[in-house]
Amino acid sequence: MTEQLQISADVHTHTVASTHGYSTINENAAAARALGMKLLAVTDHGPAMPDSPHVWHFHNYKILPREIDGIKMLYGVEVNIIDEFGTLDMDEHELSFCEWVVASYHTQCVKFERKSELVSQGYRMLCDNPLVDVIGHPTTAMFPFDYEPILKLFKEAGKLVEINESSLKWKQGALENAKTVYALCKKHEIPIVLNTDAHYAGLIGKTPIAAQLLQEIGFPRRLIVNLDPDYIMDMAQRKRQISFDSDEKNFTKESS
Ligand SMILES: [Zn+2]
Ligand SMILES: [Zn+2]
Repeated sequence: MTEQLQISADVHTHTVASTHGYSTINENAAAARALGMKLLAVTDHGPAMPDSPHVWHFHNYKILPREIDGIKMLYGVEVNIIDEFGTLDMDEHELSFCEWVVASYHTQCVKFERKSELVSQGYRMLCDNPLVDVIGHPTTAMFPFDYEPILKLFKEAGKLVEINESSLKWKQGALENAKTVYALCKKHEIPIVLNTDAHYAGLIGKTPIAAQLLQEIGFPRRLIVNLDPDYIMDMAQRKRQISFDSDEKNFTKESS
């Protein structure tokens, strides 16, 4: 694996809809196009985050185009895991408006004591939620968990384990934890998704720190599912009947 690892699909990105994001959907799509990418998922923050958009933001996704600037689009959310029971801050009805769901722990959104036993339990119970696609930044030092059994469980439950460029760059301890987490993913053949979690268009699709780490570990490319945009599109299509072949969102029609 070289350091020029270029993902084709960035499926954890933010826009101005979260006020600590600084770019629009169109700007993000243009940035993805400039890198020759194929797919982008918009995943602004769920309601428990202090600067998240109102839930109407998610309800109105139906008006947005299936493709922008030649980039296929998924409109989703980074939903918050709010307790040690895997509860999310959006219920089934709210999530029915979303085409792609990243579930993450954030310190601002939880009140329980963040010890490994409870974080692990939260992840374990989250695995029963069929609406979750990706486990967001599972390397945060603030949320330790019992890595090996829980990562294996993510694989069994069909949840993609994320390697998050933004977290590796900005969160204390994330890089050290990541070495352990992704070595375990390699050992157990657990598929991962390599995302930027970009909050600015200039950061879309760029993953130098993660690429370096994966190279050091000797992580196999075949387990990085979003090097192939079809993998993500197939997963979304299978789960939510999304059609990428036309501008019609069969998904929203069927679930309304
Ligand atoms: Zn996050
Ligand atoms: Zn995020």
